[in-house]
Amino acid sequence: MEQPPIKEEVIIEQNIMKKVNIIENFSLKKYNTFGVYAHARYFAEVKNEEQLRWLLTNPAFKDIKKLFLGEGSNILFVSDFDGLVIKISISNIELQKENEHYVWIKAGAGVIWHQLVEYCIDKKYYGLENLSLIPGTVGAAPIQNIGAYGVELKDSFSYLEAMNVETGEIKIFRKKDCKFGYRDSIFKNTLKDKYIVLKVVLRLNKKAKLNLKYVALKEMLDSMEIINPTITDISKAVIKLRSSKLPNYKELGNAGSFFKNPEIDIEDYNILKTKFPYIKGHHTKNKKVKISAALLIEKAGWKDVRKGDVGTHKKHALVIVNYDDAIGQEILNFANKIKAAVKAKFMIELESEVNIIKNENTIPSIS
Ligand SMILES: Cc1cc2nc3c(=O)[nH]c(=O)nc-3n(C[C@H](O)[C@H](O)[C@H](O)COP(=O)(O)OP(=O)(O)OC[C@H]3O[C@@H](n4cnc5c(N)ncnc54)[C@H](O)[C@@H]3O)c2cc1C
Repeated sequence: MEQPPIKEEVIIEQNIMKKVNIIENFSLKKYNTFGVYAHARYFAEVKNEEQLRWLLTNPAFKDIKKLFLGEGSNILFVSDFDGLVIKISISNIELQKENEHYVWIKAGAGVIWHQLVEYCIDKKYYGLENLSLIPGTVGAAPIQNIGAYGVELKDSFSYLEAMNVETGEIKIFRKKDCKFGYRDSIFKNTLKDKYIVLKVVLRLNKKAKLNLKYVALKEMLDSMEIINPTITDISKAVIKLRSSKLPNYKELGNAGSFFKNPEIDIEDYNILKTKFPYIKGHHTKNKKVKISAALLIEKAGWKDVRKGDVGTHKKHALVIVNYDDAIGQEILNFANKIKAAVKAKFMIELESEVNIIKNENTIPSIS
């Protein structure tokens, strides 16, 4: 598909004291792991709270639509963003406190998630090893309560500090305030776009506490002939598993799982099973049954399908990839076709895990 024209990037405002530049017509191609072309009307990168507060209270930008960006690994730009994109690059990892059993680690929102995982593995702080190699930043991790291999962020989460977009005030959100769910939190719902995560505090175990419940992880450790795994072994096994299944977004643009695994009522699941005995589900705490979206997509005939520059990956039907130079709208159209095929065959509505960014507004799921 034809690419949008390149625009000239211009610094339109500079706060020398606070060291913030606001750039007009900023290309976001390198700022999203799908690697699609899109421009931000305005763009600024902030490295601390003061810079962020200055931006948010700047009268010229007060009423302008804003998007907070980490590494862009859970975002699809379907159009240019007609507002201010703020890249959150607040760094630093520190040991906040400890007791006999636990450490509390505070990390800036801009820290790369895997760097935090590596830091904890190095110090033998247990809890994040199953979440090795998830792309993105610490600040985005609570937004969708990242999870993998039987562990979610919420399992180690203590609290976060966030800035109110309207007032610039800092508020503490404890675990119960965040309303974490499966790839979900209050920040994707009632507080969407209202707070910017600045720092996240995680409580990690000082004594070995490994989670080997996930069958594929156990099998990988067996294949590596590891009987008594260490924290490092778990991380290595997770990295091996992820690298064998997921395309590297630096080579093939993607945003990981495009859809969430649907959760359906038990009665609906039983009916589905009689019609499609190959469907497997597992019961969740909220009395639903979670089924594999990848399997539904595969059985609807959409695994390893390519249309133009967009396709589902050959090893993982849930991952939509940008084979070359696809634009966001092409990827969205492709996703909508998958959605329609799954609905037609199984009467199940897939919900997007990836945040779709359109010009009018930011919507959490495909409409
Ligand atoms: C190859 C691949 C594999 C993946 N595997 C997994 C996986 O196993 N498990 C999983 O859960 N996810 C996975 N993901 C998705 C992604 O890594 C996570 O969602 C990650 O947390 C996104 O981080 P980010 O910094 O890139 O966020 P972005 O994509 O930049 O932003 C995501 C959302 O968070 C908001 N946001 C970002 N930073 C802040 C902030 N500081 N304050 C407020 N809002 C903010 C954005 O506005 C946006 O709505 C995968 C992605 C890829 C590309």
